[in-house]
Amino acid sequence: MVKAVVGANWGDEGKGKITDMLAEKADIIVRFQGGANAGHTIINDYGKFALHTLPSGVFYGHTTSIIGNGVAVDIPVLCKEIQSIIDRGVPAPKILVSDRAQMVMSYHKNFDAYEEERLGGKSFGSTKSGIAPFYSDKYAKIGFQISELFDEELLREKVNRVAEQKNVLLEHLYHKPLLDPDSLMEELLGYRKMIEPYVCNVSLYLDQALKEGKEILLEGQLGTLKDPDHGIYPMVTSSSTLAAYGAIGAGIPPYEIKQIVTVCKAYSSAVGAGAFVSEIFGAEADELRRRGGDGGEFGATTGRPRRMGWFDCVASRYGCRLQGTTDVAFTVVDVLGYLDEIPVCTGYEINGEIVKEFPPTYLLEKAKPVLTTLPGWKCDIRGIQKYEDLPENCRNYIEFIEKEIGYPITMVSNGPGRHDIIFRK
Ligand code: GDP
Repeated sequence: MVKAVVGANWGDEGKGKITDMLAEKADIIVRFQGGANAGHTIINDYGKFALHTLPSGVFYGHTTSIIGNGVAVDIPVLCKEIQSIIDRGVPAPKILVSDRAQMVMSYHKNFDAYEEERLGGKSFGSTKSGIAPFYSDKYAKIGFQISELFDEELLREKVNRVAEQKNVLLEHLYHKPLLDPDSLMEELLGYRKMIEPYVCNVSLYLDQALKEGKEILLEGQLGTLKDPDHGIYPMVTSSSTLAAYGAIGAGIPPYEIKQIVTVCKAYSSAVGAGAFVSEIFGAEADELRRRGGDGGEFGATTGRPRRMGWFDCVASRYGCRLQGTTDVAFTVVDVLGYLDEIPVCTGYEINGEIVKEFPPTYLLEKAKPVLTTLPGWKCDIRGIQKYEDLPENCRNYIEFIEKEIGYPITMVSNGPGRHDIIFRK
Protein backbone atom coordinates (compact mmCIF):
# COMPACT_ATOMS: atom_id res chain seq x y z
CA MET A 1 0.00 0.00 0.00
CA VAL A 2 1.37 3.39 -0.96
CA LYS A 3 0.48 6.71 0.66
CA ALA A 4 1.68 10.07 -0.63
CA VAL A 5 2.28 13.11 1.59
CA VAL A 6 2.26 16.25 -0.53
CA GLY A 7 1.68 20.00 -0.21
CA ALA A 8 -1.37 21.96 -1.37
CA ASN A 9 0.29 25.35 -1.59
CA TRP A 10 3.74 26.91 -1.88
CA GLY A 11 5.54 24.41 0.34
CA ASP A 12 6.43 24.64 4.05
CA GLU A 13 2.99 23.31 4.97
CA GLY A 14 4.45 20.87 7.50
CA LYS A 15 4.84 17.79 5.27
CA GLY A 16 7.95 16.76 7.20
CA LYS A 17 6.07 16.58 10.46
CA ILE A 18 3.16 14.65 8.91
CA THR A 19 5.54 12.22 7.14
CA ASP A 20 7.54 11.69 10.33
CA MET A 21 4.28 10.99 12.16
CA LEU A 22 2.94 8.56 9.52
CA ALA A 23 6.36 6.91 9.21
CA GLU A 24 5.83 5.35 12.63
CA LYS A 25 3.67 2.74 10.89
CA ALA A 26 5.45 2.65 7.51
CA ASP A 27 8.22 0.42 6.21
CA ILE A 28 9.70 2.57 3.47
CA ILE A 29 9.79 6.33 2.89
CA VAL A 30 10.65 7.63 -0.55
CA ARG A 31 11.63 11.08 -1.76
CA PHE A 32 10.54 11.28 -5.40
CA GLN A 33 11.36 14.79 -6.65
CA GLY A 34 13.22 17.99 -5.86
CA GLY A 35 16.59 18.30 -4.24
CA ALA A 36 18.37 20.04 -1.42
CA ASN A 37 16.67 23.35 -2.26
CA ALA A 38 13.89 23.05 0.31
CA GLY A 39 13.92 21.71 3.81
CA HIS A 40 11.68 19.88 6.22
CA THR A 41 11.83 20.72 9.87
CA ILE A 42 11.24 17.79 12.19
CA ILE A 43 11.09 17.68 15.94
CA ASN A 44 11.34 14.32 17.70
CA ASP A 45 13.04 12.58 20.61
CA TYR A 46 16.50 13.23 19.12
CA GLY A 47 15.97 16.98 18.80
CA LYS A 48 15.14 19.42 16.04
CA PHE A 49 16.37 18.68 12.52
CA ALA A 50 16.25 20.44 9.17
CA LEU A 51 16.40 17.80 6.45
CA HIS A 52 17.05 18.71 2.84
CA THR A 53 17.51 15.47 0.93
CA LEU A 54 16.80 12.63 3.35
CA PRO A 55 13.18 11.52 3.72
CA SER A 56 11.49 12.42 7.00
CA GLY A 57 11.49 8.77 8.10
CA VAL A 58 15.20 8.47 8.84
CA PHE A 59 14.71 8.75 12.57
CA TYR A 60 13.05 5.37 12.99
CA GLY A 61 15.04 2.16 13.26
CA HIS A 62 12.45 0.13 11.35
CA THR A 63 12.23 2.18 8.15
CA THR A 64 14.20 2.21 4.91
CA SER A 65 14.78 5.66 3.45
CA ILE A 66 14.89 5.91 -0.31
CA ILE A 67 16.06 8.62 -2.67
CA GLY A 68 14.11 7.93 -5.85
CA ASN A 69 15.14 8.45 -9.46
CA GLY A 70 13.17 11.72 -9.65
CA VAL A 71 15.36 13.47 -7.06
CA ALA A 72 18.22 15.85 -7.82
CA VAL A 73 20.93 14.20 -5.72
CA ASP A 74 23.61 16.46 -4.36
CA ILE A 75 25.94 13.72 -3.17
CA PRO A 76 28.18 15.75 -0.80
CA VAL A 77 25.10 17.38 0.75
CA LEU A 78 23.39 14.01 1.17
CA CYS A 79 26.46 12.42 2.79
CA LYS A 80 26.91 15.39 5.10
CA GLU A 81 23.27 15.14 6.10
CA ILE A 82 23.58 11.42 6.88
CA GLN A 83 26.69 12.10 8.98
CA SER A 84 25.07 15.03 10.78
CA ILE A 85 22.13 13.00 12.05
CA ILE A 86 24.42 10.12 13.12
CA ASP A 87 26.59 12.65 14.98
CA ARG A 88 23.52 13.71 16.94
CA GLY A 89 22.80 10.20 18.16
CA VAL A 90 20.32 8.94 15.56
CA PRO A 91 21.06 5.26 14.73
CA ALA A 92 22.63 4.91 11.25
CA PRO A 93 19.62 4.85 8.94
CA LYS A 94 19.13 2.34 6.12
CA ILE A 95 19.40 4.42 2.96
CA LEU A 96 19.04 3.43 -0.69
CA VAL A 97 19.65 5.73 -3.63
CA SER A 98 18.28 4.95 -7.07
CA ASP A 99 20.91 4.08 -9.68
CA ARG A 100 18.73 6.09 -12.09
CA ALA A 101 18.78 9.27 -10.03
CA GLN A 102 20.92 12.04 -11.44
CA MET A 103 23.57 14.08 -9.69
CA VAL A 104 23.71 17.79 -8.98
CA MET A 105 27.12 18.90 -10.21
CA SER A 106 29.10 21.76 -8.71
CA TYR A 107 28.62 23.67 -11.98
CA HIS A 108 24.83 23.40 -11.65
CA LYS A 109 25.07 25.45 -8.47
CA ASN A 110 27.38 27.95 -10.17
CA PHE A 111 25.04 28.29 -13.15
CA ASP A 112 22.14 28.86 -10.75
CA ALA A 113 24.01 31.72 -9.08
CA TYR A 114 25.28 33.17 -12.40
CA GLU A 115 21.78 33.21 -13.86
CA GLU A 116 20.30 34.93 -10.79
CA GLU A 117 23.13 37.46 -11.04
CA ARG A 118 22.47 38.00 -14.76
CA LEU A 119 18.72 38.49 -14.15
CA GLY A 120 19.38 40.99 -11.36
CA GLY A 121 16.09 42.42 -10.08
CA LYS A 122 14.08 40.02 -12.28
CA SER A 123 15.44 36.89 -10.61
CA PHE A 124 13.25 33.97 -9.48
CA GLY A 125 14.51 33.97 -5.92
CA SER A 126 16.31 30.65 -6.40
CA THR A 127 17.99 29.01 -3.41
CA LYS A 128 21.01 28.52 -5.70
CA SER A 129 21.10 24.78 -5.04
CA GLY A 130 21.47 24.11 -8.76
CA ILE A 131 17.99 22.68 -9.16
CA ALA A 132 16.86 24.50 -12.32
CA PRO A 133 20.17 23.93 -14.20
CA PHE A 134 20.09 20.31 -13.00
CA TYR A 135 16.61 19.53 -14.35
CA SER A 136 17.29 21.51 -17.55
CA ASP A 137 20.31 19.27 -18.19
CA LYS A 138 18.39 16.13 -17.28
CA TYR A 139 15.78 16.82 -19.93
CA ALA A 140 18.37 18.12 -22.41
CA LYS A 141 19.98 14.69 -21.93
CA ILE A 142 23.30 16.03 -20.71
CA GLY A 143 22.81 15.16 -17.04
CA PHE A 144 24.80 12.52 -15.19
CA GLN A 145 22.89 9.50 -13.92
CA ILE A 146 24.43 7.69 -10.94
CA SER A 147 24.62 4.47 -13.01
CA GLU A 148 26.93 6.26 -15.45
CA LEU A 149 29.60 6.51 -12.75
CA PHE A 150 30.29 2.84 -13.20
CA ASP A 151 31.60 3.02 -16.79
CA GLU A 152 34.62 5.29 -16.72
CA GLU A 153 35.27 5.25 -20.45
CA LEU A 154 31.79 6.43 -21.37
CA LEU A 155 31.84 8.88 -18.48
CA ARG A 156 35.04 10.50 -19.74
CA GLU A 157 33.57 10.89 -23.21
CA LYS A 158 30.47 12.55 -21.83
CA VAL A 159 32.42 14.83 -19.51
CA ASN A 160 34.34 16.22 -22.51
CA ARG A 161 31.13 16.74 -24.47
CA VAL A 162 29.32 18.47 -21.60
CA ALA A 163 32.29 20.71 -20.72
CA GLU A 164 32.56 21.85 -24.33
CA GLN A 165 28.93 22.95 -24.37
CA LYS A 166 28.93 24.55 -20.90
CA ASN A 167 32.11 26.47 -21.66
CA VAL A 168 30.46 28.34 -24.52
CA LEU A 169 27.91 29.73 -22.05
CA LEU A 170 30.48 30.37 -19.36
CA GLU A 171 32.72 32.31 -21.73
CA HIS A 172 30.20 34.27 -23.75
CA LEU A 173 27.08 34.65 -21.62
CA TYR A 174 28.33 34.70 -18.05
CA HIS A 175 32.03 35.65 -18.43
CA LYS A 176 33.03 33.21 -15.71
CA PRO A 177 35.85 30.65 -15.29
CA LEU A 178 35.61 27.66 -17.66
CA LEU A 179 35.09 24.01 -16.71
CA ASP A 180 38.08 21.71 -16.81
CA PRO A 181 37.17 18.14 -17.90
CA ASP A 182 39.88 16.62 -15.69
CA SER A 183 38.52 18.24 -12.53
CA LEU A 184 34.97 17.28 -13.53
CA MET A 185 36.09 13.67 -13.89
CA GLU A 186 37.71 13.89 -10.47
CA GLU A 187 34.52 15.33 -9.01
CA LEU A 188 32.46 12.47 -10.46
CA LEU A 189 34.82 9.74 -9.27
CA GLY A 190 34.71 11.31 -5.82
CA TYR A 191 30.91 11.09 -5.94
CA ARG A 192 31.12 7.42 -6.93
CA LYS A 193 33.14 6.63 -3.85
CA MET A 194 30.67 8.43 -1.59
CA ILE A 195 27.46 7.05 -3.09
CA GLU A 196 28.48 3.46 -3.92
CA PRO A 197 27.32 1.92 -0.61
CA TYR A 198 23.78 3.21 -1.16
CA VAL A 199 23.17 2.55 -4.87
CA CYS A 200 20.20 0.33 -5.61
CA ASN A 201 17.76 -0.67 -8.35
CA VAL A 202 14.99 1.14 -6.47
CA SER A 203 12.02 0.34 -8.73
CA LEU A 204 12.80 -3.38 -8.44
CA TYR A 205 13.21 -3.06 -4.67
CA LEU A 206 9.84 -1.29 -4.39
CA ASP A 207 8.16 -3.85 -6.66
CA GLN A 208 9.28 -6.58 -4.29
CA ALA A 209 8.22 -4.55 -1.27
CA LEU A 210 4.73 -4.07 -2.73
CA LYS A 211 4.44 -7.80 -3.33
CA GLU A 212 5.33 -8.37 0.31
CA GLY A 213 2.59 -5.97 1.41
CA LYS A 214 4.95 -3.35 2.81
CA GLU A 215 3.70 0.14 3.57
CA ILE A 216 5.39 2.80 1.50
CA LEU A 217 5.22 6.57 2.00
CA LEU A 218 6.02 8.98 -0.79
CA GLU A 219 7.20 12.32 0.56
CA GLY A 220 6.75 15.36 -1.66
CA GLN A 221 8.71 18.58 -1.56
CA LEU A 222 7.11 22.03 -1.96
CA GLY A 223 3.45 22.07 -3.08
CA THR A 224 1.00 22.22 -5.97
CA LEU A 225 1.53 25.92 -6.66
CA LYS A 226 5.23 25.28 -7.31
CA ASP A 227 4.53 22.53 -9.85
CA PRO A 228 6.03 23.38 -13.26
CA ASP A 229 2.78 22.47 -15.07
CA HIS A 230 0.01 23.32 -12.65
CA GLY A 231 1.70 25.96 -10.48
CA ILE A 232 2.37 29.67 -10.83
CA TYR A 233 4.67 29.28 -13.83
CA PRO A 234 7.38 30.54 -14.19
CA MET A 235 7.74 31.13 -10.43
CA VAL A 236 7.78 27.38 -9.86
CA THR A 237 10.29 24.67 -9.09
CA SER A 238 11.74 22.46 -11.81
CA SER A 239 10.28 19.07 -10.91
CA SER A 240 6.67 18.05 -10.44
CA THR A 241 5.39 18.43 -6.90
CA LEU A 242 2.27 16.34 -7.51
CA ALA A 243 1.45 12.96 -5.99
CA ALA A 244 1.00 11.60 -9.53
CA TYR A 245 4.68 12.22 -10.15
CA GLY A 246 5.42 10.06 -7.12
CA ALA A 247 4.79 7.03 -9.32
CA ILE A 248 7.40 8.20 -11.82
CA GLY A 249 9.93 9.59 -9.37
CA ALA A 250 9.91 6.37 -7.33
CA GLY A 251 9.34 3.91 -10.19
CA ILE A 252 6.05 2.33 -9.06
CA PRO A 253 2.69 1.81 -10.81
CA PRO A 254 0.36 4.85 -10.41
CA TYR A 255 -2.54 2.64 -9.26
CA GLU A 256 -0.57 1.59 -6.17
CA ILE A 257 -1.00 5.07 -4.63
CA LYS A 258 -4.11 4.52 -2.52
CA GLN A 259 -4.06 7.47 -0.16
CA ILE A 260 -3.03 11.04 -0.92
CA VAL A 261 -2.55 13.14 2.20
CA THR A 262 -2.40 16.76 1.16
CA VAL A 263 -0.92 19.03 3.79
CA CYS A 264 -2.50 22.49 4.18
CA LYS A 265 -1.29 25.07 6.65
CA ALA A 266 -3.92 27.04 8.63
CA TYR A 267 -2.51 30.28 7.15
CA SER A 268 -0.30 30.91 4.12
CA SER A 269 3.41 31.40 3.66
CA ALA A 270 5.56 31.46 0.57
CA VAL A 271 9.19 31.92 -0.35
CA GLY A 272 10.61 33.35 -3.56
CA ALA A 273 8.96 35.66 -6.03
CA GLY A 274 5.51 35.37 -7.60
CA ALA A 275 1.90 36.42 -7.06
CA PHE A 276 0.59 35.71 -3.55
CA VAL A 277 -2.97 37.00 -3.40
CA SER A 278 -3.71 36.70 0.32
CA GLU A 279 -0.33 38.15 1.34
CA ILE A 280 -0.16 40.45 4.37
CA PHE A 281 2.50 43.01 5.23
CA GLY A 282 3.89 45.16 8.02
CA ALA A 283 3.30 44.50 11.70
CA GLU A 284 0.45 42.05 10.99
CA ALA A 285 2.77 39.88 8.86
CA ASP A 286 5.69 40.23 11.28
CA GLU A 287 3.63 38.94 14.17
CA LEU A 288 2.33 35.90 12.26
CA ARG A 289 5.85 35.19 10.96
CA ARG A 290 7.31 35.39 14.44
CA ARG A 291 4.65 33.12 15.94
CA GLY A 292 4.39 30.78 12.93
CA GLY A 293 5.64 27.21 12.49
CA ASP A 294 7.98 26.27 15.28
CA GLY A 295 10.16 29.22 16.12
CA GLY A 296 9.05 31.44 13.27
CA GLU A 297 8.49 31.24 9.53
CA PHE A 298 12.02 31.40 8.16
CA GLY A 299 13.34 29.22 5.32
CA ALA A 300 14.80 25.89 6.47
CA THR A 301 17.50 26.10 3.77
CA THR A 302 18.23 29.80 3.52
CA GLY A 303 16.92 31.32 6.75
CA ARG A 304 15.06 33.86 4.60
CA PRO A 305 11.93 35.34 6.19
CA ARG A 306 8.90 33.73 4.52
CA ARG A 307 6.17 35.88 2.96
CA MET A 308 3.01 35.58 5.05
CA GLY A 309 -0.70 35.59 4.27
CA TRP A 310 -4.15 34.47 5.38
CA PHE A 311 -5.50 31.05 4.43
CA ASP A 312 -6.35 31.01 0.73
CA CYS A 313 -9.36 28.80 -0.07
CA VAL A 314 -9.07 29.39 -3.82
CA ALA A 315 -5.44 28.30 -3.99
CA SER A 316 -5.95 25.43 -1.53
CA ARG A 317 -9.03 23.99 -3.27
CA TYR A 318 -7.07 23.99 -6.52
CA GLY A 319 -3.98 22.66 -4.76
CA CYS A 320 -5.96 19.76 -3.26
CA ARG A 321 -7.72 18.99 -6.54
CA LEU A 322 -4.51 18.67 -8.53
CA GLN A 323 -2.99 16.40 -5.91
CA GLY A 324 -5.97 14.04 -6.03
CA THR A 325 -6.49 14.49 -2.29
CA THR A 326 -8.08 11.73 -0.23
CA ASP A 327 -7.20 13.35 3.13
CA VAL A 328 -6.25 16.85 4.17
CA ALA A 329 -3.81 17.26 7.06
CA PHE A 330 -4.48 20.76 8.42
CA THR A 331 -1.39 22.03 10.25
CA VAL A 332 -0.17 24.77 12.59
CA VAL A 333 -3.69 25.55 13.74
CA ASP A 334 -2.30 26.28 17.22
CA VAL A 335 -0.40 29.31 15.89
CA LEU A 336 -3.62 31.22 15.18
CA GLY A 337 -4.69 31.16 18.83
CA TYR A 338 -3.58 34.77 19.42
CA LEU A 339 -5.96 36.39 16.93
CA ASP A 340 -9.29 38.02 17.85
CA GLU A 341 -10.50 37.56 14.30
CA ILE A 342 -9.05 35.52 11.46
CA PRO A 343 -9.47 36.66 7.86
CA VAL A 344 -9.75 33.91 5.24
CA CYS A 345 -9.48 34.48 1.48
CA THR A 346 -12.57 32.93 -0.13
CA GLY A 347 -12.39 34.38 -3.63
CA TYR A 348 -10.34 36.50 -6.01
CA GLU A 349 -11.50 39.70 -7.61
CA ILE A 350 -10.07 39.88 -11.11
CA ASN A 351 -11.02 42.75 -13.42
CA GLY A 352 -14.12 43.47 -11.32
CA GLU A 353 -15.31 39.85 -11.27
CA ILE A 354 -15.25 37.46 -8.32
CA VAL A 355 -13.74 34.07 -9.17
CA LYS A 356 -13.38 30.90 -7.13
CA GLU A 357 -11.18 28.94 -9.55
CA PHE A 358 -7.41 29.45 -9.35
CA PRO A 359 -6.40 31.30 -12.53
CA PRO A 360 -3.29 31.11 -14.73
CA THR A 361 -0.42 33.38 -13.72
CA TYR A 362 -1.19 36.42 -15.86
CA LEU A 363 -4.63 36.74 -14.21
CA LEU A 364 -3.32 35.80 -10.77
CA GLU A 365 -1.09 38.90 -10.91
CA LYS A 366 -4.26 41.01 -11.13
CA ALA A 367 -6.22 39.21 -8.41
CA LYS A 368 -7.25 40.93 -5.20
CA PRO A 369 -8.33 38.86 -2.21
CA VAL A 370 -11.98 38.65 -1.14
CA LEU A 371 -11.78 38.16 2.62
CA THR A 372 -14.25 36.69 5.09
CA THR A 373 -13.50 37.19 8.76
CA LEU A 374 -14.07 34.40 11.27
CA PRO A 375 -13.91 34.77 15.05
CA GLY A 376 -10.72 33.57 16.75
CA TRP A 377 -10.59 31.22 19.76
CA LYS A 378 -8.04 33.16 21.83
CA CYS A 379 -6.44 30.24 23.63
CA ASP A 380 -3.67 27.68 23.36
CA ILE A 381 -4.91 24.44 21.78
CA ARG A 382 -1.63 22.53 22.07
CA GLY A 383 -1.98 19.27 23.94
CA ILE A 384 -5.63 18.76 22.99
CA GLN A 385 -6.07 15.24 21.62
CA LYS A 386 -9.75 14.99 20.75
CA TYR A 387 -11.47 17.01 18.07
CA GLU A 388 -14.51 17.64 20.28
CA ASP A 389 -12.24 19.23 22.89
CA LEU A 390 -11.12 22.00 20.55
CA PRO A 391 -12.80 25.37 21.20
CA GLU A 392 -15.96 25.86 19.16
CA ASN A 393 -14.52 28.76 17.14
CA CYS A 394 -11.53 26.64 16.26
CA ARG A 395 -13.75 23.81 15.03
CA ASN A 396 -15.81 26.36 13.10
CA TYR A 397 -12.64 27.67 11.43
CA ILE A 398 -11.61 24.13 10.43
CA GLU A 399 -15.09 23.21 9.21
CA PHE A 400 -15.50 26.48 7.30
CA ILE A 401 -12.27 25.79 5.44
CA GLU A 402 -13.14 22.14 4.87
CA LYS A 403 -16.39 23.21 3.21
CA GLU A 404 -14.65 25.85 1.10
CA ILE A 405 -11.92 23.54 -0.19
CA GLY A 406 -14.21 20.54 -0.59
CA TYR A 407 -11.84 17.85 0.71
CA PRO A 408 -12.03 16.12 4.10
CA ILE A 409 -9.75 17.41 6.83
CA THR A 410 -9.03 14.12 8.59
CA MET A 411 -6.00 15.26 10.59
CA VAL A 412 -5.51 18.47 12.56
CA SER A 413 -1.98 19.28 13.69
CA ASN A 414 -1.84 21.42 16.83
CA GLY A 415 1.88 21.50 17.55
CA PRO A 416 5.22 20.70 15.92
CA GLY A 417 5.80 17.41 17.77
CA ARG A 418 5.18 13.93 16.40
CA HIS A 419 2.17 13.33 18.61
CA ASP A 420 0.57 16.76 18.33
CA ILE A 421 -2.11 15.44 16.03
CA ILE A 422 -5.87 15.05 16.22
CA PHE A 423 -7.50 12.45 14.00
CA ARG A 424 -11.05 13.09 12.77
CA LYS A 425 -13.34 10.45 11.41
P1 GDP B 1 7.57 21.17 5.09
O1 GDP B 1 8.66 21.59 4.18
O2 GDP B 1 6.23 21.11 4.41
O3 GDP B 1 7.86 19.95 5.85
O4 GDP B 1 7.40 22.34 6.15
P2 GDP B 1 8.52 23.06 7.07
O5 GDP B 1 9.23 22.05 7.86
O6 GDP B 1 9.32 24.00 6.28
O7 GDP B 1 7.60 24.01 7.95
C1 GDP B 1 6.77 23.56 8.88
C2 GDP B 1 7.17 24.17 10.21
O8 GDP B 1 6.08 24.13 11.05
C3 GDP B 1 8.25 23.40 10.92
O9 GDP B 1 9.01 24.28 11.69
C4 GDP B 1 7.46 22.43 11.81
O10 GDP B 1 8.15 22.04 12.97
C5 GDP B 1 6.31 23.28 12.16
N1 GDP B 1 5.05 22.60 12.37
C6 GDP B 1 4.49 21.57 11.68
N2 GDP B 1 3.26 21.31 12.14
C7 GDP B 1 3.03 22.20 13.13
C8 GDP B 1 1.91 22.47 13.98
O11 GDP B 1 0.87 21.85 13.89
N3 GDP B 1 2.06 23.50 14.86
C9 GDP B 1 3.19 24.24 14.97
N4 GDP B 1 3.24 25.22 15.85
N5 GDP B 1 4.24 24.03 14.18
C10 GDP B 1 4.16 23.03 13.28
